[in-house]
Amino acid sequence: MQPIKFDNTYARELPGFYVAWQPANVPAPALLYLNRPLADELGLEPAALDGPEGVALFAGNTVPEGAEPLAQVYAGHQFGGFSAQLGDGRALLLGEVIDRHGQRRDIAFKGSGRTPYSRGGDGKAAVGPMLREVLIGEAMHALGIPSTRALAVVATGERVLREGLLPGAVLTRVAASHLRVGTFQFFATRGELDKLRQLADYTIARHDPALAGTPGRYVALLRAVAERQARLIAQWMNVGFIHGVMNTDNMTISGETIDYGPCAFMEAYDPDTVFSSIDHGGRYAYGNQAPIARWNLARLAEALLPLMADGDDEAAVQQAVAEVTAVIDAFPGWYGQALLQGRRAKLGLQTAGDGSKDGDDSGDSDNSDGSDDSLLAEDWLALLQQHGVDYTLAWRRLADAAAGDANPLRALFAEAAAVNPWLERWRARCAQQDASSSEAGVAGVGSAAGSARAARMRRVNPWIIPRNHRVEEALAAASSQGDLTLFHNLMAALQRPYDEDPGLAHYAEPAPAQVSAAYQTYCGT
Ligand code: AMP
Ligand code: MG
Repeated sequence: MQPIKFDNTYARELPGFYVAWQPANVPAPALLYLNRPLADELGLEPAALDGPEGVALFAGNTVPEGAEPLAQVYAGHQFGGFSAQLGDGRALLLGEVIDRHGQRRDIAFKGSGRTPYSRGGDGKAAVGPMLREVLIGEAMHALGIPSTRALAVVATGERVLREGLLPGAVLTRVAASHLRVGTFQFFATRGELDKLRQLADYTIARHDPALAGTPGRYVALLRAVAERQARLIAQWMNVGFIHGVMNTDNMTISGETIDYGPCAFMEAYDPDTVFSSIDHGGRYAYGNQAPIARWNLARLAEALLPLMADGDDEAAVQQAVAEVTAVIDAFPGWYGQALLQGRRAKLGLQTAGDGSKDGDDSGDSDNSDGSDDSLLAEDWLALLQQHGVDYTLAWRRLADAAAGDANPLRALFAEAAAVNPWLERWRARCAQQDASSSEAGVAGVGSAAGSARAARMRRVNPWIIPRNHRVEEALAAASSQGDLTLFHNLMAALQRPYDEDPGLAHYAEPAPAQVSAAYQTYCGT
């Protein structure tokens, strides 16, 4: 039986962009995690996956029929410094499948042994960090944020040397593709124009097929990537996600979040929050993520430029530079729009997408550019920062205030009355929207409107996020005692982030402040 039906365009169409390579054999594989809903979405044969055959497959011990494992080459700016050659040092693309929605997805290993791109590394991964990728990636997915996803984790029965000896693991990861900004940088830096063009056309066929063959397709590709990243980073910001290592090799062309290393969710609101142990300058701090995304996109723009103009034709070069610069300059606006749309929804305000009359002259005095709501949101965040309030709980308790009870929100502030003046402004804004929409027959006013607003807010403001202390306790038990109970319980809670189930209250509680303040996360684990 063929458990996975592969169709490998990367292997077939892009020779010279990878090395064919085999996963290492591991001594005693044991399945720790299998994502059944994802397996089903991929059209895989579940019966073939959780038995011995599946374990051998996810361990890399038997390469399934139709797979053509390969290590992709790429470059990347890491913390601003350029590395001309990185590549899959501990990952392998097994192949591609077409999922039930007709989408092409990569199936890849992480931790499957050394490759020609391993440099000094051992090519391996440990149980804790791979289960961490499962927890955070699946939490992101449940929050509606584009993400690569974990299909399986297998313990290898080997020890890997990190700060001590840790149990080893292999993760199987599913992605829309593994094309990165750094993949383009690799060929651009080497001046391999034919390959660069081949890569760009492959990428367009895969992610933006409507652009295929069009004359302005390379700048249009840049624009499409920038728009996807603008939406993605806005979503990160609105849930308090900190990626932690936004190197250009960790930024996808598809717009999916990739590479869950030092990432973590913010607790008390503070834009300077950094958890990564090596990010001393705060380059990848929470509040710096949009400017860094723009910086990365500028690197993609540089890589694409040689495809847009022959370097000997000065006028053509200037024209191309102007075109890509326009995209890079538009990025903050696209990001700002996506952020504001998300913030409005979080505030319980109508958004352009749900029948709002903003922008017309219907009596809603809001500016059509949303600057009033933008200021309302900024002032709310400033208040949370000033009082060290938990970001996730504050939004959730604001929904309670919409339903009529502001006391749970006040209780988050050491000085309960501190939020009152802002609450008055927010209520006035809500009332103004309710009045204008009831005139239009859209919704009622008063408590009915309040409950409807609270319900809306509870659908976009999660109650449960992967809290750092809960993630760590689950991983510690799994890694040191091989006990996955806490991991499975936490996974179940993270699947339903918006349900306020009292039985799960301990997952909603912030970590003690001293735990958060000292919390550190790590790369390359
Ligand atoms: P990351 O910061 O995890 O995105 O990794 C950056 C680069 O280091 C990539 O080329 C990885 O393949 C490589 N790398 C990370 N950890 C290891 C490891 N244990 N062995 C070999 N290569 C690694
Ligand atoms: Mg990476």
